[in-house]
Parts: sequence; structure tokens; C-alpha cells
Amino acid sequence: MTRCSIEKLMPEYIKNFEAYTPSKPDAELAKIYNCKKIYRLNNNENCLGPPSKAIEVIRRFDPKRAAVYPSGDSYYLRLKLGKKFHKDPNQFLVGNGANEVIGFTLKAFCEQGDNIITADKTFAVYEWTAVFSGIEARLAPLKDFDLDDEGMLELMDDRTKIIFICNPNNPTGTYWNSQKLRQFIKRVNNRAVIVVDEAYQEFVEKEDYPDSMSLIDKYPNLVTFRTFSKMYGLAGLRIGYLVGNLQIVDIIRRTCIVYSVNTLAQDAAVVALDDDEHVMVTRRLVKEGKAFLAAELSKIGLPYQCGEGNYAMIRLPIDDGLAYRKLMTLGVMVRAMTGFRFPNYIRVTISCPEAMQALIDGLVKIL
Ligand SMILES: *Cc1c(COP(=O)(O)O)cnc(C)c1O
Repeated sequence: MTRCSIEKLMPEYIKNFEAYTPSKPDAELAKIYNCKKIYRLNNNENCLGPPSKAIEVIRRFDPKRAAVYPSGDSYYLRLKLGKKFHKDPNQFLVGNGANEVIGFTLKAFCEQGDNIITADKTFAVYEWTAVFSGIEARLAPLKDFDLDDEGMLELMDDRTKIIFICNPNNPTGTYWNSQKLRQFIKRVNNRAVIVVDEAYQEFVEKEDYPDSMSLIDKYPNLVTFRTFSKMYGLAGLRIGYLVGNLQIVDIIRRTCIVYSVNTLAQDAAVVALDDDEHVMVTRRLVKEGKAFLAAELSKIGLPYQCGEGNYAMIRLPIDDGLAYRKLMTLGVMVRAMTGFRFPNYIRVTISCPEAMQALIDGLVKIL
């Protein structure tokens, strides 16, 4: 088949979609930028690694089990989740990262002509997954760095199937409190599915932050996303999940890809959930890291945006792509934000003190 006839097979929305370019492996970047050590501040990973119980499970993994398919529905993990959160295990669907459950949810509810609503500056995978699936993504601009509830409601029509709320929002760190979320759910009034992505729930300090999982029994159109990638330090094993009431989960389950969650990830996640100490220590580290960053950035005179979550955005007087490359030569890897509609901003993960110091030293040096 010629190249030209293959192109004819492509839907219009794929023709116009540009593939995401993943970062090169650290070892390759170290060669390119000629640096010895790299502080990874680009992906909101936990610099403390996985909880010690999960480390133990990973270390003791019997290699022979690699030949055997994993549980197709993350059986023991769902039992564990049910127990921990006082829900029916069938209210949980586990995926290959929370990223995969975004796809499950979209496929379950959206067909050509439908639309989803999200923000213009939020976790971009909702928008991307919709667009490359041929579904319209309607984007409500942020308001003072926060998701705009009114703006989102105004975008709704009778083809709106899902509204994605990233709470707290990545990358701005803003959050909707209990009252705002409840009000929003009431005004949507079952006209669309509401997804509350709580990838950073375990980091939130604020008292009025809503635990949306506690609302799912009351609102049949509500779905909560969580992940083991951030607080629980299992990003490399790829595991996340969604929770909803039985009816909505039974619908989404139809689009699940069986065996997409590997054995090791399931085993590690089960014990990770028990490690409250790890959560406490990480929260303390992030709190101290934010205080350090705030003080140092004020000294340098750089504006920043930091709320809940383990990340902050910093506004630079230079191009963020240029800043990325300059910081890389100093071994500091940040996230350039132009591609996420925040030109001249970088997003950095709140990491260990040594990495935070390297970031500040790097910024002073390049500016
Ligand atoms: C990191 C992140 C995810 C994806 O997590 P995975 O489980 O690693 O796929 C989802 N939502 C938000 C807001 C995130 O920041």
C-alpha cells in the first residue's frame, strides 16, 4: 500500500492530531545536556519512592509469576479498596494508570457528535483523548487560575456527556471546596457524567476540600479518579482507578481492557494503601518544600502559583523552552508549560531539599 492511500484511511480528526512527544530517557538527556545527575522535577513523582511495604513486595516478586496473566479485574486490590473506603469492591475499576480509565470513561459514554467539557489549562489528557477519539472537547478558560464552574455550565448542551474536574487542578494547584463541588453537581443535575480527578487528593491539606468519593453514593453521575503514581510512588508500574456507584461502573466496565494492569503493580498497590507513615512523611516533605520555594522565589523576585498538590508553577522573564534547556545543562529537569497554554511558565515538582536547592541555584544562574 502506498503512503498516500494509507492517508485516505485516516479519519479527519487523526489527520489533524499531533502525537505527544515523550521525554527521552534520563541517560540520553544526560549525554545531550552534558550533566551527571538529573533532578526530575517534571512529572510530579514522589522523590521518596514507593512506601517501604511496596518496596518489599516488589523485591520479593517471584519472577515465575511473570509468565502468568494477572488478575483481569485486580481482584485483591478492589477488595482492599472496598475495605479501606467502605465501598463495594465492584464500585472500583482499576486501569493502567488513571490515564487509562480516562479512555474507558470516554468510550463508555461518547460517540461522534458528542462533546466533553474541561478547562483550557488543566491536565491535558482529557482533551487529547477526546480529540483523537473524534469527540469534541469544549474548554472553559480558567478564572484566576481556577476552574470556572459558570463557564463550564455555559458550555453544556444536550450532546455534553462528560465534564472533567481536576481537583486540585494540575498545574495551578487551585481546588473547589465542598460547597462549590456540591453546588456544581446539583446544577449539572444528572445531564452529564461528572469526573472528579483526584490524582493529588492525598497531598491536600485544606479542611474544606471535598472527598468526592463520599458523594458517589448520593450522585449516580459522579465518578472519582485516583492514582498510585503520585503520593504512592508507583508511576513506573502504571496503576490507577476510578470509583462510582454500581450502575455507572457497570457501564464503564464494558470498555475496560482486560489484563492491562500487571501483577506487580496490583501487588504493590495493595500494600501501599496501608502505609500511612509514607503519606505523612511525604506530606511533611512537600509542605517544607513549598515553604522553602516560596521564600526563595520571593527573594529572587519570581512570581509563582502554588496551591494544593506536590507542584508549583513559576513565571519566568524568558521563554520556558529556553529555560528548560538551560536548566537541563545544570541537571534540573522541569516542565515547560507553553504546550499547556502557559507560555513563560515552568511547572516544578516539590521534591527533596537537595533538588529544591538545585532548582533555585539553577534559576539564579540562568536568569
Ligand atoms: C499524573 C496525573 C494523572 C495520571 O496518572 P497515571 O495514573 O500515572 O496515569 C491523572 N490526572 C492528573 C491530574 C495527573 O496529574
